[in-house]
Amino acid sequence: MYKAYCFDLDGTVYTGKEPIESAVTFIHQLQAQGIEPFYITNNASKTAEQFQQALAAIQIHAPITHIYSSALATGKYIAMNHAGKTVSMIGSEGLQDALARENVPVVEEGGDIFVIGIDQNLNYLSLAKAAVAMQNGAIFVSTNPDIKFPSEYGFLPGNGAFTELVSQVSGVKPLYIGKPSPVMLAIIQEEHGFAKDEMVMVGDNYDTDILCGITFGIDTIHVNTGVTSTAEAKLKQQQATHHVQTLTDLMPK
Ligand SMILES: [Mg+2]
Repeated sequence: MYKAYCFDLDGTVYTGKEPIESAVTFIHQLQAQGIEPFYITNNASKTAEQFQQALAAIQIHAPITHIYSSALATGKYIAMNHAGKTVSMIGSEGLQDALARENVPVVEEGGDIFVIGIDQNLNYLSLAKAAVAMQNGAIFVSTNPDIKFPSEYGFLPGNGAFTELVSQVSGVKPLYIGKPSPVMLAIIQEEHGFAKDEMVMVGDNYDTDILCGITFGIDTIHVNTGVTSTAEAKLKQQQATHHVQTLTDLMPK
C-alpha cells in the first residue's frame, strides 16, 4: 500500500472531458481510506483552479495542494532553487499564474531566467527574443518537452517543439520540468515529506509517466487506457512495476 499515488491526468483519469470510470472509482476508494492522491500533468496552459474544476466535473474533489501541472511545478522549482532571480517568459495564463503564485518576479526583458511554456499566440519576435536571451546567458527552463499533442485535426505543435527550436538556435540546452523529468515528483516529495517507497507514479504513457517514476526511483503502475498499450509497455527494457488494464484490477475483489 502506497501513501502517495501520483496520477497522470489525460489518458489515466480522464480522456478529454470524459472520465475514465475505473480511475474515478479507484480514487474515491483511496480517499475513503484517507489517502489523498496527487495529480501530475505536463499541460501548462491551465491554472490550478481550472484543473480543480476539470476534476470536479468528473466528481473528483482535489485540494489545490495536490495538483501539479508543469507550469505550477516550474514556479515552485524557480522559487526553491533560484529565489530572488527575475524571469522573462513565453507562456499563457497557466504559467503566468504559476509564477505569480510563487511570487517569482517577472520582467518583460532581461530576466536572469527565461522560461518557455505553451502559448498559442506565439510569434516570431517572441522566439527570436528567447533565442537571444539564452545567448546572453539566461538560465533556460522549459515547462515540458512534449513535441506534439493530439487534436481533432491531427497532431499539433507542443511546447517541446518551440523549446527545441530555441535550443537549436541558441546552442543552450533547457532544463525541462515536465515528465519524464523527475522534477515534479521531487517537489511532491520535498513539499509533503514522503519516502520514495511510499510513492507510486500511475500513468498511461510509458515515455513520460513511467520513465518519470523510474528515473526518480519509485514504483510505477502502467494503465492500458491511453497512449501506450500494455503490449508495447511490456517490450521496454526498463518495465513498470505493475501493468494493469484498468485501475479496477488493483481494487479488492
Ligand atoms: Mg497521459
